[in-house]
Amino acid sequence: MGQVLGFEALKQQVSDGTVDTVLVCAVDMQGRLMGKRFHAGHFIAGAWEETHCCNYLFATDLEMATPDGYASTSWEKGYGDYVMKPDPDTLRPVPWLEGTVLVLCDILDHHTHAEIPHTPRAMLKKQVGRLAALGYDAMMATELEFFLFARSFDEISAGGFRDLTPISAYNEDYHIFQTTKEEHVMRPIRNHLWNAGIPVENTKGEAEAGQEELNIKYAAAMDTADYHSIAKHAVKEIAHQHGHAASFMAKWSHERVGSSSHVHQSLWQGGKPSFYDAGDDLGMSGLMKSYVAGLLKYAPDYTYFLAPYINSYKRFMKGTFAPTRTVWSIDNRTAAFRLCGDGTRAVRIECRIGGSDINPYLAMAAMLAAGIAGIEEGLELAPPMRGDAYAGEGGSIPGSLIAARDALKGSDMLRQAMGDEVIDHYARAAEVEIEDFERVVTDYEVARNFEKA
Ligand code: ADP
Repeated sequence: MGQVLGFEALKQQVSDGTVDTVLVCAVDMQGRLMGKRFHAGHFIAGAWEETHCCNYLFATDLEMATPDGYASTSWEKGYGDYVMKPDPDTLRPVPWLEGTVLVLCDILDHHTHAEIPHTPRAMLKKQVGRLAALGYDAMMATELEFFLFARSFDEISAGGFRDLTPISAYNEDYHIFQTTKEEHVMRPIRNHLWNAGIPVENTKGEAEAGQEELNIKYAAAMDTADYHSIAKHAVKEIAHQHGHAASFMAKWSHERVGSSSHVHQSLWQGGKPSFYDAGDDLGMSGLMKSYVAGLLKYAPDYTYFLAPYINSYKRFMKGTFAPTRTVWSIDNRTAAFRLCGDGTRAVRIECRIGGSDINPYLAMAAMLAAGIAGIEEGLELAPPMRGDAYAGEGGSIPGSLIAARDALKGSDMLRQAMGDEVIDHYARAAEVEIEDFERVVTDYEVARNFEKA
């Protein structure tokens, strides 16, 4: 990432009183910003070199519980510290908070200072490094879809999550009038992110009442993941400042469509798009064909990283623009993989499997691993699917978290690419979600069985 705010400039802003707070953040397994608020004076006096966090932060769930079964940490091991090492290239203003800047950290072992392999930034760095060894850079873009609600998180929570009224009453796909009514939230989101050095392209209404999409210009994979995490955090905070909730849950109602995070992918070499071949009918190079064949072959292996919760799998429904089949197509939104920009230098593959609940570092790391495997194995790409993929043939996306966990655990490709420790760690994270859900009696069961069973 091109530096947005240099350390010398920060020192100046601290001394003239423009900045007094530094958010020192890690990105956790769920893709959230976790960390500490430093007094800026203390940060520039020394905390910029490193600080610490409890290692349970990378072995927990959405509720911040301490589940057992992780090799990296436990009650028995005493839940010690990791080093949080600020990455100066990520230092940037947080224009929606007064006097505040933010920096993202890499997470290191307390004693050896080696990167912790199952932390999201380390996982993506590793796959970007493997690709660099082959001579390529990954250029990626992640789309962020989410719902805005009339009330705030706190009001909705106090009401037992029952009053889920979206901010608008009808489908607002590309709808300028309806989205004008939401500009008190969406305009600050675009402008604050832009002023934080995040290259926002646009926002638009999406295909449901209250559904929004935020697009950020494609960039190197690591920058894209950083942008995504900061942008998602900003959307929640800015919506909160205006009395609204913003939800990135993949499917908040079975009667509505879900929210996605499509991932656009292309490989480049020396600033030139290596996916482009002017001599091919669709403009696809041999490299691109093998990469896409890898994405297709290994889609079940890495689906967990695109759909990490029980709820994520409720999104994969016929006729909702969320895919069900692992096939590729030319500009066809019914397939899991959609070829975009065919015949042009912008030729790229869009993976449509991921929900808005992805952790972008993990999603991109896993897809890069699959694409690299496709290149290394010299895989041939089958012809594209045509027509309605929901009605057609082809491989299926795992239908549940249990199936995705099994595919993850059994993936030799991911074990080789990421290491056993990492795969066992995330297979355990999937199990924790499954165990918790199996224990809880849901509203659905009570309403269905209470009288009638
Ligand atoms: P859609 O029809 O899916 O909305 P867009 O034209 O809006 O497609 O582009 C979606 C995303 O693709 C944008 O974030 C854009 O920056 C990104 N993108 C464009 N070119 C490339 C590329 N060569 N590689 C990766 N992403 C790209």
